[in-house]
Amino acid sequence: MNTQMYRVTPGGPVALSDWDPDEHSLFPDGKDSAKDFFDGQNKALEQLQELLYAEGKRRLLIVLQGLDAGGKDGTIRSVFDHVNPQGVKVASFKQPSTAEAAHDYLWRVHQRVPGDGEITIFNRSHYEDVLVVRVHDLVPKERWERRYEQINNFEQMLTEEGTTILKFFLHISREEQRQRLQERIDNPSKRWKFSHADLKERGFWESYQEAYTAMLNRTSTEWAPWYVIPANRNWYRNVLISQVVVRTLEGFNMSFPEPEEGIEGMIIPA
Ligand code: AMP
Ligand code: MG
Repeated sequence: MNTQMYRVTPGGPVALSDWDPDEHSLFPDGKDSAKDFFDGQNKALEQLQELLYAEGKRRLLIVLQGLDAGGKDGTIRSVFDHVNPQGVKVASFKQPSTAEAAHDYLWRVHQRVPGDGEITIFNRSHYEDVLVVRVHDLVPKERWERRYEQINNFEQMLTEEGTTILKFFLHISREEQRQRLQERIDNPSKRWKFSHADLKERGFWESYQEAYTAMLNRTSTEWAPWYVIPANRNWYRNVLISQVVVRTLEGFNMSFPEPEEGIEGMIIPA
């Protein structure tokens, strides 16, 4: 399966209209036609993650960005439901705490990057510092403007030091967001997820589209590419993301560590 068309070529230029959030061209026949493939990917991911953990040499950082109700939580639940929690971490970045706000914006992020043998999933990330911060001018423009390059340099340093980075933008339409937010209100078991702030942020739709476009154009690099994932359909989003993650892990060509000498054929005494 070729996911190249969802990868943002470094240097761009790209527009969000280059990708249709409803699109599912790799599985034109719909969800059922992708089920076996997805189950196979899930199994593969389980085994590859086990190997990554056992080998203990490589680090994988997965960044998830998207608007409210874009499907970040759902992706984590569905794509990573078979992995060993011991080797997989999730880091969620909310409004900075007092301590976080008293430091540079990468301070809280750097502490959460994966160590050897680990996968870390960022649910939101340092990109908030060129998204929500840009949309609301939470710092002066001169400051957030510099951050694109700072982020590229930070990510380059991480990759040069042995971390592989994959970044996914979950691309939903305005109508899809409306339906998902409405569902959060109508469904009592989802109501906890709704905040008035979500509705307020929805009012800045166009500014967010601009901020996301700038992010894709300025921070998709050879060392840390962005993928724009059509995310109106959860199943398609899950298939694409798991495919990119599995392919990346396969490319590591990992092997289990050599066992200690003299283990083969050993009998454990009664
Ligand atoms: P949620 O992901 O629904 O828990 O919401 C977290 C909220 O924190 C979102 O509205 C984010 O935009 C916001 N947030 C995350 N990082 C930052 C940041 N660096 N500055 C300001 N707000 C942020
Ligand atoms: Mg929210």
